[in-house]
Amino acid sequence: MSLVNTDVALPFRHGGVEPSGAPARSMPVGAPSRSDDPSTAGGAASQLFQQAAGSAITRDLASVVGSPSRMAITNDLAVVSGQPSQMASSLSSSSTSNVSQLRITEIFYSLQGETSRVGLPTVFIRLTGCPLRCTYCDTAYAFTGGQNMSMSEILGQVAGYKPHYVTVTGGEPLAQKNCALLLSALCDAGYEVSLETGGALDIGVVDARVMRVVDIKTPASGEVEKNRWENLELLTAHDEIKFVLCDEADYQWAKQLMMQHHLADKCPVLFSPAHGTLNATLLAEWILRDRLPVRLQVQLHKLLWNNTPGH
Ligand code: SF4
Repeated sequence: MSLVNTDVALPFRHGGVEPSGAPARSMPVGAPSRSDDPSTAGGAASQLFQQAAGSAITRDLASVVGSPSRMAITNDLAVVSGQPSQMASSLSSSSTSNVSQLRITEIFYSLQGETSRVGLPTVFIRLTGCPLRCTYCDTAYAFTGGQNMSMSEILGQVAGYKPHYVTVTGGEPLAQKNCALLLSALCDAGYEVSLETGGALDIGVVDARVMRVVDIKTPASGEVEKNRWENLELLTAHDEIKFVLCDEADYQWAKQLMMQHHLADKCPVLFSPAHGTLNATLLAEWILRDRLPVRLQVQLHKLLWNNTPGH
């Protein structure tokens, strides 16, 4: 049975402490890196592709062509940068010819702020780029910038923190094709791995060992039409569904969707108030009133660090 129900406007977020001896956070937003030094080969390449960003599409990159609602992702690496209204944007250079590279905004160690793993010390790998522009987005700094890192560099930095849990987030991590390789490599290294995805791209490419936390974008997100409804049929009890809610209309919409498609029978369902937009206590009262089988989450990292990048 199709999960798409035309009765509902069906349609369809993701967050340091440096451990002793661990490497410093690799790339706080805007911080210079060795690759920014034009006197080095890497720096020269970095400058070249910075010039190219926003216009060039190379064979090594997947680009988003057209408006975000009509995405076409091509080739080996997809990174979305710039504004969604731009026809195509990319981050590319000869340095991305290594297919094991990814564009990374930051890697940091903090407490998990969401999901059933809330409060657990976790290493976060934030990938650069996102094809969506949700009204409440709190990670717009990950839309552009970042730096290329090889798989071994990423794994080495993660290992420095000696974590048990690793979360790959964004941006939209699945916009980079090599994200799937990274997720499998992290599982192979023995970590408990989760992925935070906006729900617009195919989650079927993700290693079955990974806990997939899949957003369902609500009407007030401004991106409801981007939901990839086929993803619902791929969910297992190991995954989680997340609604970020902006108002009561969003709540009612999510509630109806849950009931029509028995989402709580598939996997845990998370209801999160959009920070600064919907009162968490109010949302809690609605959930109790309606006896919804969902988990209210309030984004612990924002309570602790006010969403400062790197936490
Ligand atoms: S899907 Fe993209 S735009 Fe929406 S909240 Fe996540 S990072 Fe921000």
